[in-house]
Amino acid sequence: MKTKVAIIGAGPSGLLLGQLLTKAGIDNIILERQTPEYVLGRIRAGVLEQGMVDMLREAGVSLRMENEGLIHEGVELIYNGRRERIDLKQLSGGKTVMVYGQTEVTRDLMDARSQSGALTVYSASHVQLHELKGEKPFITFEQEGKHLRLDCDYIAGCDGFHGVSRQSIPSDILTHYERIYPFGWLGLLSDTPPVSDELIYAQHERGFVLCSQRSHTRSRYYLQVPLSDKVEDWSDDRFWQELKTRLPADVASRLATGPSIEKSIAPLRSYVVEPMQYGNLFLVGDAAHIVPPTGAKGLNLAASDVSYLFRILVKVYREGRTDLLPKYSELALRRIWKAERFSWFMTKLLHTFPDADNFDQRMQQSDFDYYTGSLAGRQTIAENYVGLPFESI
Ligand SMILES: Cc1cc2nc3c(=O)[nH]c(=O)nc-3n(C[C@H](O)[C@H](O)[C@H](O)COP(=O)(O)OP(=O)(O)OC[C@H]3O[C@@H](n4cnc5c(N)ncnc54)[C@H](O)[C@@H]3O)c2cc1C
Repeated sequence: MKTKVAIIGAGPSGLLLGQLLTKAGIDNIILERQTPEYVLGRIRAGVLEQGMVDMLREAGVSLRMENEGLIHEGVELIYNGRRERIDLKQLSGGKTVMVYGQTEVTRDLMDARSQSGALTVYSASHVQLHELKGEKPFITFEQEGKHLRLDCDYIAGCDGFHGVSRQSIPSDILTHYERIYPFGWLGLLSDTPPVSDELIYAQHERGFVLCSQRSHTRSRYYLQVPLSDKVEDWSDDRFWQELKTRLPADVASRLATGPSIEKSIAPLRSYVVEPMQYGNLFLVGDAAHIVPPTGAKGLNLAASDVSYLFRILVKVYREGRTDLLPKYSELALRRIWKAERFSWFMTKLLHTFPDADNFDQRMQQSDFDYYTGSLAGRQTIAENYVGLPFESI
């Protein structure tokens, strides 16, 4: 097999890159370890920045999102029961976010890919990358017991945090930056109407709460829990009771409860690897960085990397601008570090840290008072939440 750009991973970053390249007439093949059903079964992000929404439009996959997605113009932050609405639209000069689930984005991208006829090899195992520094990189893999080889010009490593791409770069080339947080998020998805029109991020002495949503009839709630907790420890009743305890009484009284469709615990981590490229391999999305979900940035950062790599590859194939390739890592990382900072800031601002002393608690309270109490502070939160602009190439 032969293609121009080999993409490893059919998560949102791999599928979005593939769709944009296909639309631009640049051949690509995606290799995915799992089945399509497995990929679609993962419940993850749900808030899309304006920049990602624009990319989905450019990729020609925005029809269902325009009809079913919900545009949000604000979010609510709560600290010790004190409620502050951040008017995203007014404070960011007219920008908003779109609430539309990652699963739906993935489904739309998969549908567009099958309509375009571009190849995705699912259930590809033992994927291995070769000759990354040479002019003719290639990938070997297995499917249905057959040993296969894919030759290409470039490889996009879109295979998530546990993928093979980052591991294929010699370890002495890479620098890892990491922060593990001493808690996780227990998420519950239910077919119940959201408790509020806008997302609620709430700090409480018993732990953080996020009231999120996927549609007018489907809600996603999160509770901060100790890392030692297991999903089996949390019956639906216990989850709803704890959620009500951590929310202000009038919000709790409006909460519609129902059986969970999905429940899972995710650990919280900040992580970046530098550089994000090695020879003809480019790391994209979770393969190169992880953010705690408090700033709603994980999926959006994956799209951000796709934007930079796609625009560079278009110039490479249309204008012969191979001089731009070495700039990918530096360009992508500048925006990544700003999103890492915002996600870390929101996590520190709103969670209950087990080792925090009374000084730390006062600092957290003061941060909340300062950022929500001044125009500059509110603008800072708003412009980061809706997403910082992309640099031109
Ligand atoms: C449990 C969870 C909850 C999350 N919640 C939020 C949230 O609320 N808000 C938010 O903004 N972000 C959230 N995120 C982050 C967000 O979902 C990710 O940032 C996003 O999925 C990144 O997309 P990606 O395509 O880079 O990676 P992934 O979605 O991880 O996709 C990588 C793909 O590569 C495939 N793959 C892996 N290894 C190989 C291999 N060796 N060969 C071939 N294929 C391979 C995988 O099967 C997968 O399909 C969450 C993440 C997790 C794990």
